Amino acid sequence: MKVRQYLVIGAGRFGSAVSTNLHQFGHEVVVLDRNEATIEAIMHQVTHALIADATDEAALGSLGVRNFDAAIVAIGVNFQATVLATTLLKNLGAKYVVSKAADRLTAEVLSRVGADRVVRPEHDMGVQLARQFAEPNVLESFDFGTGHEVLELMARKPLIGSLRDLQLPTRFRVHVAAVERDSQVELNPVADYEVAAGDKLAIIGSRESLNKLRAWLGS
Ligand code: ATP
Repeated sequence: MKVRQYLVIGAGRFGSAVSTNLHQFGHEVVVLDRNEATIEAIMHQVTHALIADATDEAALGSLGVRNFDAAIVAIGVNFQATVLATTLLKNLGAKYVVSKAADRLTAEVLSRVGADRVVRPEHDMGVQLARQFAEPNVLESFDFGTGHEVLELMARKPLIGSLRDLQLPTRFRVHVAAVERDSQVELNPVADYEVAAGDKLAIIGSRESLNKLRAWLGS
């Protein structure tokens, strides 16, 4: 596994969950928070934790933000600090910035100031939960935030048969990236691959294309 470097700004409930889990997955995680007690609580669960204000350009500049694979701005409900930190990170050359927004308008502002991806945890989780109830064969979905998604589906009719016959790229402009059967994963399955009921398929495509596929599966 390639060890990646992450910078997490704000160690509230969201930021600390992201940081400690990334660290448990073996990545290097630097956490920045202006609250001393918060930093003390997390310092032994991440690579490095420091007390600083994310709106302080000099403090951010000294971190060498362009060396991190991604920066995550997880500053609770403090709108101004979230926007400033996102802007500063992009100005300082951060490669990929994920910013947490409390609402739709904030999300729009964050995209405009350069966030590469904006998450709205409560909203996004609500959407995911609704999808899981409404589409029981959709096991998981991952939104790249670029208009593209990966769907993990449990195969059932009409998604049964050879990939050649299913013609998913031609009919829906989606691609089967992997199939899991009996804990064995087939990456980039060939056209002869026979999809059977119960296979787990990872399908990639634009949100629009995947919605057409969903509609077909639900019909
Ligand atoms: P959630 O992540 O779910 O919003 P929370 O409600 O605990 O959890 P907050 O406490 O509002 O989140 O904020 C997240 C963290 O961001 C806090 O630990 C806070 O100290 C930190 N924070 C807020 N503003 C700044 C800032 N300007 N610079 C650095 N850290 C900040």
